[in-house]
Amino acid sequence: MATIVTHGVVGLGLGKVYATRRMGVLFWVLAFLSPMVPDFDVFGMFWNIPYDGSPLSHRGFTHSIVFACALGLLMAWLTFRYFNVRFWPLWLFFSAAIASHGVLDALTNGGYGIAFFWPFDSTRYGPRWGPIQVTDIGFEIPDFRTSRTVHTELLWVWLPTALIVNLVMSYRYWKSCKSSATRSTGANPTPPAP
Ligand SMILES: [Zn+2]
Repeated sequence: MATIVTHGVVGLGLGKVYATRRMGVLFWVLAFLSPMVPDFDVFGMFWNIPYDGSPLSHRGFTHSIVFACALGLLMAWLTFRYFNVRFWPLWLFFSAAIASHGVLDALTNGGYGIAFFWPFDSTRYGPRWGPIQVTDIGFEIPDFRTSRTVHTELLWVWLPTALIVNLVMSYRYWKSCKSSATRSTGANPTPPAP
């Protein structure tokens, strides 16, 4: 896996892209936490589930697109009235945030493949699709100066996420400036020349 915080950062980035208005604290907490859920499969070791490539083992069904869509559906159903937003875009956001986990794992340079298409296809895809150093630090806090995992995640995940969010925010800002300029010219039309 990539580090758990980095999964959360991608969720926050997607949240920024999704949210066109101010959202409450609960939304941002869920945006941060929902991409972490697929790794709960590591607790399978308490039930002696072996790492054998079966859907229940690590990077199995919890990392699939179907799981992301189903959990996204539940989360959107539970919260869309509270957030006072449209259901399907919220579902799309939660699903994308959860599905981003498997994509990020596939971009690491180690560990098991990801069962993206479970239950239709149990093939494990990736990893080694990208340059992110697979973590060996689990849920511990890494040493930021020396950890190659942290360095590759900052470069290949945090930086692109920040760039995309800034690009989207700048575009929205530019659009709102443009529309308010159009409105103000519409409200106060230039008087005709005498
Ligand atoms: Zn994972």
